[in-house]
Amino acid sequence: MKLAMIPFSPPRIDQAIIDEVIDTLKSGWITTGPKTKLLEQKLTEYVGHRKTLCVSSGSAGLELMLRWYGVGEGDEVILPAYTYAATANVIVHTGATPVFVDVLPNFNMDPNEVRNHITKNTKVIMPVDIGGFPADYEQINALVNEPEIKDLFQADNDHQENLGRILILSDAAHSLGASIKGVKAGKFTDITIFSFHAVKNLTTAEGGAICLNLPLSFDVEAIYKELNIKSLHGQNKDALAKTQIGNWRYDIVEAGYKFNMTDIAASMGLVELNRYEDDMLVKRKYIFDRYAAALKEYKWAQLPIYETEDIKSSYHVFMLRIHWVSEVDRDRIIEKIFSRNVSVNVHFLPLPMMSFYTKMGYSIADAPIAFSEYAREISLPVYYDLTDEQIDRVINAVVESVEEVLKEKDS
Ligand SMILES: *Cc1c(COP(=O)(O)O)cnc(C)c1O
Repeated sequence: MKLAMIPFSPPRIDQAIIDEVIDTLKSGWITTGPKTKLLEQKLTEYVGHRKTLCVSSGSAGLELMLRWYGVGEGDEVILPAYTYAATANVIVHTGATPVFVDVLPNFNMDPNEVRNHITKNTKVIMPVDIGGFPADYEQINALVNEPEIKDLFQADNDHQENLGRILILSDAAHSLGASIKGVKAGKFTDITIFSFHAVKNLTTAEGGAICLNLPLSFDVEAIYKELNIKSLHGQNKDALAKTQIGNWRYDIVEAGYKFNMTDIAASMGLVELNRYEDDMLVKRKYIFDRYAAALKEYKWAQLPIYETEDIKSSYHVFMLRIHWVSEVDRDRIIEKIFSRNVSVNVHFLPLPMMSFYTKMGYSIADAPIAFSEYAREISLPVYYDLTDEQIDRVINAVVESVEEVLKEKDS
């Protein structure tokens, strides 16, 4: 008898989530309202940055902040070649040019590559914490504050004038709960975006958050108001404010977006956040440790780094690599793992390999490390409800499949 397919990352939907969503449905207020505001407060308390705005997705958060900083045509934004399409697509939406840089063998943006790609047109750098392991913020933050690099920066508006340098916009879609020397993701740099998409560590089905941690010369309360308006069609009052007696009249002050989070989504987020640190992260770390302990016995296994003395991952994706295999061998291994009823994945196809970006003139030849890591990568299932027995099945399926393919290669 064949055992049921082990999925890759189903969400944790239990009675607590269902009860809280039903509470919202019955409250009479289902869009942006008290629960969204509460989730913003709780996220701010959890991370310790200055101010949070919840939005409809991580992508919306990234785009909103590029727009807020006035990024557009003629500007350049530096990002790693190794990330999901969202990080680059939002740059294209603004009319600015994405500048892909190669990564380190830990999958994160290489700070030296970033340095080599800075020009007078660079407005923003977007590090991505791939798999939940933080990028090198110490180096990236220091880089944008170097006198020669600050001198090169050309401010085009008040926000750019105030910052006086390249903005760091962190794509932390994977890294809620990760830390560097005890400081949590959300507080590593100027602005950080979380995603609460269905496959992410903390999910609201779809959703995201903007964490403002800008220098004190920025009035974050004022920016929060500005972003609220920008994320609601430029309307100067939200729906809840308009329900107050005599408060119906409003103005449209700009052609804004529709990026607000609903209270239905926020209610899921509140339950998830409440048990995130002591339950979700503990379980995810346990799964990572089980995989690492079992696979380290095999010479072909290159394990992901997910903890160092200073750095802790959020244990989002277990990014295994297989030594000595080609992209074709890796694909063959994945087929064999699936045939054992275990779902795996690849994070990610580097963006310069995607047809849209190759047509724009980008080439994976310019990001050789991104390619060689991608070609050997297999992401293993990690989710709250994964049982010990299922973890063993995943490990066995991986070991058997890799060994079969390596044997085929030898013969
Ligand atoms: C999921 C993801 C995003 C986008 O988040 P959404 O909430 O789906 O818009 C951005 N960057 C990376 C690296 C992601 O994995």
